[in-house]
Amino acid sequence: MQTITILGSTGSIGVSTLDVIARHPERYRVFALTAHARVEELAQQCKQFRPQVAVVGSAGAAQALSRLLREQGVATAVEYGPQALCAVASAAACDTVMAAIVGAAGLEPSLAAARAGKKLLLANKEALVMSGQLFMDAVAENHATLLPIDSEHNAIFQCLPQSFARAPEQHGVAKIVLTASGGPFLRREVATLESVTPEEAVAHPNWVMGRKISVDSATMMNKGLEVIEAHWLFGAAADRIEVLIHPQSVIHSMVSYVDGSLLAQLGNPDMRTPIAHALAYPERIASGVGPLDLAKIGQLDFLAPDFQRFPCLKLAYDALEEGGSAAAILNAANEVAVQAFLDRAIGFRMIDQLIHRVMDRLPARAVSGLDDLLEQDREARQLANTCITS
Ligand code: NAD
Ligand code: MG
Repeated sequence: MQTITILGSTGSIGVSTLDVIARHPERYRVFALTAHARVEELAQQCKQFRPQVAVVGSAGAAQALSRLLREQGVATAVEYGPQALCAVASAAACDTVMAAIVGAAGLEPSLAAARAGKKLLLANKEALVMSGQLFMDAVAENHATLLPIDSEHNAIFQCLPQSFARAPEQHGVAKIVLTASGGPFLRREVATLESVTPEEAVAHPNWVMGRKISVDSATMMNKGLEVIEAHWLFGAAADRIEVLIHPQSVIHSMVSYVDGSLLAQLGNPDMRTPIAHALAYPERIASGVGPLDLAKIGQLDFLAPDFQRFPCLKLAYDALEEGGSAAAILNAANEVAVQAFLDRAIGFRMIDQLIHRVMDRLPARAVSGLDDLLEQDREARQLANTCITS
């Protein structure tokens, strides 16, 4: 029996995780569920999965959740705040943590799970992008097991040899090929991108996801963050990581070997596949995802990415090359810019311009530890906000 904490259980990944867990009650038990503000959904999840603990973002939300749970006769204890998130991520009573909070808010609880040596299922790519070496050191030093949930990285993981030890050249790996759908604006006239609305940007052609990652997919910053994520997960230098646009999202990513072999993982675009893979690893369990009907799909297309259309992808490669805190600055500026775009405070093309400006004005430094990293994250957010209002 695996006992699981789901950080961000009311989000898109959280809900898919609970869907897989519900199919295998004999294998998985939920220890804790967490949500920021969606108290009613969380109460419903508590009623169904009976966790020991539920964590929310504020005292007010905790009060509301406690009342709902009392009314329904559910005995789950309610806590709130960042420290409670770290506590349920590192509790002795849980062995597996699904890290599915969106953005930098997920860093400290994800890191707490790594430090506690958990089996860590990582969806929260921003945490790894920000903290890089710090995160990987915590995993290694505490013998945590890090399994990628991002569909591309999960695909790559499946295409690498079992013995893979973050040294591509030692395993005959020539390239890691991250596929990208290209998002909703792949074929839209570049000149018209300035006027796209948040509704258009979040309408992803293949995947149903949270709003932030949907905007990241439209700018292709999502792929940029994934390039950095792949660097840390697989120990690959930037020039060994290639992005290939594949609009159908059927091939989730590939690994190219020195002998000319190209291994790919294919499937329907449904996050329950990588979630089930990581939950059961190294076994396989049913996920609820149907088999891929290639005859019906008929054709798979590929094209090279265009940095003019998608400048965010280039900015992410630049940050990876620069090293130090550059990726954390990129991530912070992007989070502020995406939120401002969703709030209609800036236009779509201002997202990349703002990140560029922040990266230009804030030099990357070496990161001496978590406090220093959080300080540099704060500085980047402050500068991004100043650029928006000035
Ligand atoms: P979402 O917006 O649907 O859900 C986010 C979850 O995080 C919610 O449960 C929310 O309550 C919680 N949360 C938000 N802000 C918080 C805060 N400040 N403190 C604590 N909790 C907070 O997002 P999502 O699409 O499920 O994505 C989650 C993570 O997984 C992201 O990092 C994303 O990049 C990654 N990811 C998602 C997908 C996908 O298909 N949705 C695929 C790959 C990777
Ligand atoms: Mg992905």
